[in-house]
Amino acid sequence: MTKLLLKGGRVVDPMQQLDQISDILIEDGLICDVQPVITDADAEIVDCRGKIVAPGFIDAHVHLREPGYEYKEDIESGSKAAAAGGFTAICCMPNTDPICDNRSVVEYILRRAKLAGGAHVYPLAAITKGENGIELTEMAELKACGAVGVSDDGKPVVNGEVMRNALEYSSMFGLTVASHLEDPVLSEGGVMHHGAVSTRLGLRGIPSVAEEVMAYRDLQLAKLVGGRIHLCHLSAANSVRLLKQAKEDGIKASGEVTVHHLILTDEIVAQSCYDSNTKVNPPLRSEADRQALIEGVREGIITAIVTDHAPHHLDDKRMEFDYAAFGISGLETAVALIMDRLVSPGLIPLETVIKAFTSGPAAIYGLPNRRLSKGSSANITVIDPEEIRTVKPEAFLSKGKNTPYGGWQLKGWPVCTIVDGEIRYRREVGV
Ligand SMILES: [Zn+2]
Repeated sequence: MTKLLLKGGRVVDPMQQLDQISDILIEDGLICDVQPVITDADAEIVDCRGKIVAPGFIDAHVHLREPGYEYKEDIESGSKAAAAGGFTAICCMPNTDPICDNRSVVEYILRRAKLAGGAHVYPLAAITKGENGIELTEMAELKACGAVGVSDDGKPVVNGEVMRNALEYSSMFGLTVASHLEDPVLSEGGVMHHGAVSTRLGLRGIPSVAEEVMAYRDLQLAKLVGGRIHLCHLSAANSVRLLKQAKEDGIKASGEVTVHHLILTDEIVAQSCYDSNTKVNPPLRSEADRQALIEGVREGIITAIVTDHAPHHLDDKRMEFDYAAFGISGLETAVALIMDRLVSPGLIPLETVIKAFTSGPAAIYGLPNRRLSKGSSANITVIDPEEIRTVKPEAFLSKGKNTPYGGWQLKGWPVCTIVDGEIRYRREVGV
């Protein structure tokens, strides 16, 4: 394996309170030196002057669609899209076909991911068999073969007793339960946030309370029986308050927010003239909600920023708003959106963003924590904070071109992604 020498970058690793100009030498997949100046005639040089060199980013919420929906995405295209988006690792959700609820599907995903040549892939397995909401999966076996957590994502666990049992059972194996928070009766038929905009547009709304009641239920169940609860894709201000209170009460709880809920509000549905690429679940909510989510990240209540990458075929999106599929293809725009819209204007400090893409998600699922220090495995994300580029969905490596950001000009892009000492993505100048 070739030696790599990252020259002159701004090395930022919040876990070590490190923020300085340094060189990093990589050999055999490991970081073998971090010093202000390193010379090595044999190493391939990666010029990092003017760039941010961070521990490898992790996206804790991704839909890879394989097995079953390879026309939307597959493990190879998804993991390569992740690397192109600056991610060295992703967690994939189990709502495939078949559902990832048994050993053979977990092993299939891991095998395919190894061959794909993109980011590391950590599968979550389902909470219930076939995501049927009734019968718990064999969590001990699923953990033993490589599942890092359990979730019925895409669907809520409607039955409170089942969720209670899932929290109790999963805690025996140290598995985190990731909850898709949605009361399906309250959200039924809704296509966007329930509020002034949905009323104006005449679209059926999904009220924030559909999320909040499930957040409250799951937090209280975790308090009752123990277990680790993780609240997926928080979208409402009140959910952030509930999570904050739960943490103060000593409940083992964590939460994540998507890039789109930090950047967009329900107004975009009107502004884009019902662009179905703005249709997501949970829906884009109000400006007050968005501000509360930003504050939640800044305060460390929400510890992971995720994409909820949900690639779809054009045919699933090119239809009336009411009938289009939910979801945004987010892997290849996430870092640039956060850099441009939140870090540059000073809304969230760079160190907090790096934590929310590294140590935060790693802690939720017990993933290897990558550090920029001697002896660590070399998983590194390099960002050029000055690069300005326009979002071109047709150039995505993901099969899903469904993005509301097409044509947006953003500043601050990932330019090099190193996975286990190997360059898995490198931006060619001028492309
Ligand atoms: Zn979900």
